[in-house]
Amino acid sequence: MESPHYFPALMMLSDDRHSLVEEFLLEFGIDPAAEAAPIQYLGMIPASDEAVQTSLQKCRVVTENECCSICLEEMNVNDECHKMPCNHAFHHTCILTWLRTSHVCPLCRFPLQTNKE
Ligand SMILES: [Zn+2]
Ligand SMILES: [Zn+2]
Repeated sequence: MESPHYFPALMMLSDDRHSLVEEFLLEFGIDPAAEAAPIQYLGMIPASDEAVQTSLQKCRVVTENECCSICLEEMNVNDECHKMPCNHAFHHTCILTWLRTSHVCPLCRFPLQTNKE
């Protein structure tokens, strides 16, 4: 069993390092100083399973030095990645974990469908 996933980007918010995730949280009016707070407590809405299944597109990294903005790790050319409909690419596990927490693209906030009642 895997331990609960915490986004490394969130754990680094106390660093000076400028992080897209920090910007993202600020846009939502969330204080990134609430550092180690697991992202699921941050009041975001997850994408629906259906939206996750139909929206992500499997592809390969084509640009060198591209980073996955979720885990901030570099993606190597020809690595498998998954694209959101907005054309932003992330590691498959990263974007899956992200979408279970938030239904919007971490880069441009392109929204996927949620499980609205
Ligand atoms: Zn990643
Ligand atoms: Zn995007």
